[in-house]
Amino acid sequence: MSSSPSFSEIRHSILNGAASCAEWVEKYLENIEAGRHLNALVEVYADEARSRAVAIDQKIAKGEAGKLAGLVITVKDVLVHRDHGAQAGSKILEGFESQFTATAIDRLLKEDAIIIGRANCDEFGMGSSNENSAFGPVKNAIDESRVPGGSSGGSAVSVQADMCQIALGTDTGGSVRQPASLCGLVGLKPSYSRVSRYGLIAYASSFDTIGVFGKHVEDVALTLEVMAGYDEMDSTSSSLAVPAYSKQLHNSSSKRIAYIAETLESEGVQAEVKAAVQEKINRLRKEGHTVEAVAFPYLDYLLPTYYILTTAEASANLSRFDGVRYGYRSPNASTLEEMYKKTRSEGFGEEVKRRILLGTFVLSASYYDAYYVKALKVRRMIKEATENILTSYDFLLTPTSPTTAYKLGAKTKNPIEMYLGDIYTVQASVCGLPGISLPVGTDAEGLPIGMQLVGKRFGEEELLAFANQIEKMA
Ligand code: GLN
Repeated sequence: MSSSPSFSEIRHSILNGAASCAEWVEKYLENIEAGRHLNALVEVYADEARSRAVAIDQKIAKGEAGKLAGLVITVKDVLVHRDHGAQAGSKILEGFESQFTATAIDRLLKEDAIIIGRANCDEFGMGSSNENSAFGPVKNAIDESRVPGGSSGGSAVSVQADMCQIALGTDTGGSVRQPASLCGLVGLKPSYSRVSRYGLIAYASSFDTIGVFGKHVEDVALTLEVMAGYDEMDSTSSSLAVPAYSKQLHNSSSKRIAYIAETLESEGVQAEVKAAVQEKINRLRKEGHTVEAVAFPYLDYLLPTYYILTTAEASANLSRFDGVRYGYRSPNASTLEEMYKKTRSEGFGEEVKRRILLGTFVLSASYYDAYYVKALKVRRMIKEATENILTSYDFLLTPTSPTTAYKLGAKTKNPIEMYLGDIYTVQASVCGLPGISLPVGTDAEGLPIGMQLVGKRFGEEELLAFANQIEKMA
């Protein structure tokens, strides 16, 4: 995807007068128009982006522009932005406008990024194909009969189809890395608590992270550098200093990389995915890195642990959508109780309702110990075993997704089949570790294949530098 310019190239073109911010914005608006049928954006802020671009061009002329001047972005519909709509891809938030701005967005705006639109996504971030949105499915720009991945599918396609340079997504169990893989992009999920969650409409609060899509590792690194860091509005955000990730990308010492043998042997993994990842492993070895298979006994427990804990957290988080405080209220009710029930039945989509029911079940008095508490214990074991691998190795490597992009509708009838696609991404989420997906080739039909690297907690600097090295190796 290196045919699209990097942000530093774009910035260069702006600074040397070859193209203004306003001209770049026009170009992206043209691409948005040409790609309307992909359904990547639920709202386009054309006028606002245009006037902001003019103002930023003036700031540039005066030498007062921020470090993201000229960066055009889209944001997933679960991140709130003052006086702008936010619906989390759900009918239940119909008509809702936020009174405040998510910290991550606010920090990008302060450095003069331009938001050109709000990106479609699976309802409340629940899904792997972007087919669970009240706004309808998003299409993969490489093959429009296929899914872009999810839940941040609209964000991914907005970058894929050059509607912007960078998109913000959220990643609770893979929602940035997996669509990045299916769309041929770089997708980063930071460590849990690296980026403030203030203004992120919660799905599962102990897993949720804000991540970044781009076509170049250096652009993703720069965006993270601006967004990350302590925020007094999110008491779980880390106060650890934020390195200048974008300036540390050229560190090239030899690394120790582990992979779990089953991830490349399992029958469920598409042959071309295995081959492309194996080829990268061989290449890494040739470059002097150590890549070794390691044992990880909890592979089968990853998805159940993830889905028990996230649905439990979701059932609590989503209880606030009751027809009183936000968005949609059923017009068909005559009593208060009926209003709650009808609002939630009519406002939430099928997948969200399934998860609220499942989460309520695992938290109910008779099943709390058997499911919820057990899953918490297994989470700890998975965390310890994974961290143990990462004491002897720098990174853990896997395919990002077992398959390339599948046909729209192929997995909507069978939720379990859909969940299975998250097998490799949920490990980092259960453990709170950073992960990145990088494009490593295509299958026979030209569909992108992604490889995931998981790093140590708060090890984004090393992870991004190594990812940059792999990108340059291509
Ligand atoms: N596909 C996973 C799920 O449906 C991950 C979603 C996400 O990261 N938001 O839960």
